[in-house]
Amino acid sequence: MTVYKAPLEDYKFLFHEVFNVVDVCKRLGYDQVDQELIDIMTEEWSQFVTDVWKPSNIDGDKFGSQLKDGAVISAPGFKEAWKQTVESGWLQAVCKEEHGGMGLPLFFRNAMDEPAISCNMAISVVAALSLGVYDLIIKHASQEIIDRYAIPVSSGEWCGTMCLTEPHCGTDLGLIKTKATPQDDGSFLITGTKIFITAGDHDLSDNIVHMVLAKLPDAPEGSRGISLFLVPKFLDDGDGLSNKINGTSVSGIEEKMGLHGSPTCVLNFDSSKGWLMGEAHTGMAKMFEMMNRERLATGMMGLGLGEIAYQNALAWSLERSQGRDLRGMKDLDAPADNILVHPDVRRMLLKAKVNCEGTRALGTWIGILLDEMNKGDGECKENANALIALLTPVMKAYSTDIGCQSASLSIQVMGGAGYCTEYGVEQFYRDVRIAPIWEGTNGIQALDLVGRKVTQNFGKNLRHLLWPLLEFIEENREVDGMVEFNKPLHQSVKGLQQLTLLLMAEGAGNPHFLAAGATDYCTYFGNTMLAYLWARMAKVCLAAKSAGTSTDFHDAKLASASVFFAEIHPDNAGLVAKIMAGHKHLMAYPEAAF
Ligand SMILES: Cc1cc2nc3c(=O)[nH]c(=O)nc-3n(C[C@H](O)[C@H](O)[C@H](O)COP(=O)(O)OP(=O)(O)OC[C@H]3O[C@@H](n4cnc5c(N)ncnc54)[C@H](O)[C@@H]3O)c2cc1C
Repeated sequence: MTVYKAPLEDYKFLFHEVFNVVDVCKRLGYDQVDQELIDIMTEEWSQFVTDVWKPSNIDGDKFGSQLKDGAVISAPGFKEAWKQTVESGWLQAVCKEEHGGMGLPLFFRNAMDEPAISCNMAISVVAALSLGVYDLIIKHASQEIIDRYAIPVSSGEWCGTMCLTEPHCGTDLGLIKTKATPQDDGSFLITGTKIFITAGDHDLSDNIVHMVLAKLPDAPEGSRGISLFLVPKFLDDGDGLSNKINGTSVSGIEEKMGLHGSPTCVLNFDSSKGWLMGEAHTGMAKMFEMMNRERLATGMMGLGLGEIAYQNALAWSLERSQGRDLRGMKDLDAPADNILVHPDVRRMLLKAKVNCEGTRALGTWIGILLDEMNKGDGECKENANALIALLTPVMKAYSTDIGCQSASLSIQVMGGAGYCTEYGVEQFYRDVRIAPIWEGTNGIQALDLVGRKVTQNFGKNLRHLLWPLLEFIEENREVDGMVEFNKPLHQSVKGLQQLTLLLMAEGAGNPHFLAAGATDYCTYFGNTMLAYLWARMAKVCLAAKSAGTSTDFHDAKLASASVFFAEIHPDNAGLVAKIMAGHKHLMAYPEAAF
């Protein structure tokens, strides 16, 4: 059995000391939200997933889902866990009041993802997909569809999927072949095969609502000709759900490296009845709304699994004694010292820990920006829109890359035990490895950042992001204790401006230069955002110290900030060198020598 304790103290620090979320909520009209409500909800949700989702996580990995007689049977314990989730009303809590929810802010929904993923990522993706489908329905479906689908999907009584990928197209969705044929009653018949569909079929819910990308007969070529359709597994004939499946069938479940509890299905649509979501040929834009939300949730996967892997590596290392402290024996009564005496073990554990603390701050900041984008107006909304556009690919790619790194470091800390199934950490590593791949690979996120997002609005998005950072740097130039954090932050921000100009200038004439540097640029970008957030967190702790209100937690946070700036942030220098090296060594490499 693995250990897990939700990082509630860290969330309280971020919510109330760093981001002052209660003030944000008041400003945005979430009048019902106060500190007590946020803290209680965060604590109770974390307890719920620990008690209800976590116990089946290992069985999910061990037994996986099974395809029997064309139907998917969930892993042991999943059905009961989902039943309790639906009954508890937790998923609905973040939905609108008119759909039975509490209309809680989106930063809370974002934060809910972390413990959910730590406890059982396979179940958490079902929840994330269902809420993503709910969002699409309430925004783009007809009133008739909203009336029928919104409530059961919001509660999890019915679950959701997103169906984009086909055998010959993953990244390049313009190639999709699934067809939609209009019917006289205004519906469409959908025919085609989708692959890799997460939770494409299962027995957790009475119905599954698929969001399917398909092409109408008159569709323009490529991605401009894609439309989005809602296709339920079972139709509602007005008198409850039909017992006849709506033309969908599963012809296989993928065998995978990890995430075995989540059925990844080959899903066939054979004249399945569906309804168009919004206008024809606007499907990509609509699917991207869902995908952008899922990309943030995917970023939280790096955090959730990195965190639980770290906690287990820490628990193990506290018990493990090998070798002696290089500066003399620590424990004279024992044949060896605890491995925490070794600088290399500390390096690995602290890197994993600080990776998690940093991305938790990034996830919380993005959650608040989502609320400002949704509920704010004027400059506040415009600013949040710009920042979300830039930070979405960064959160997805950066957070999942370092999440994999944290899980890998946690295995390394444990030596052979880390590699063995008995201790549980290798599962987290296998499970998190999908996160840099799905929802658009990390390579594609980096290209989106450098090729689209930083140039959007004539570079205004980037200015919206960097101006407050430069202001922060200026304000803190003379603040006691801040120079250790402020100075490297300033170097990074200046470097980001220069790298952006370089990539734009060189990339305009040679797209290979731009594309070759994209992934390193995205990592540099992520490191810079984390440098800003670490400096902000350090400032809060230093202020608490001067006010005489600081606690051990603040001291530990300051120590974490120092680890970030000494151990992680210096990678930026190497990234600059790699970006400047350009593309020639890659593109001139002789093909025959590969
Ligand atoms: C477990 C699992 C669950 C999934 N769940 C879903 C789901 O629910 N719904 C769904 O629709 N799909 C799902 N997918 C599919 C997933 O989103 C795709 O696998 C992913 O988008 C990558 O597509 P691909 O596998 O076809 O890789 P490809 O597109 O073939 O890419 C292969 C490599 O080439 C790179 N590449 C491709 N094009 C470019 C380019 N233009 N520039 C630079 N590099 C490029 C990629 O980054 C990647 O490294 C799932 C996949 C898995 C494995």
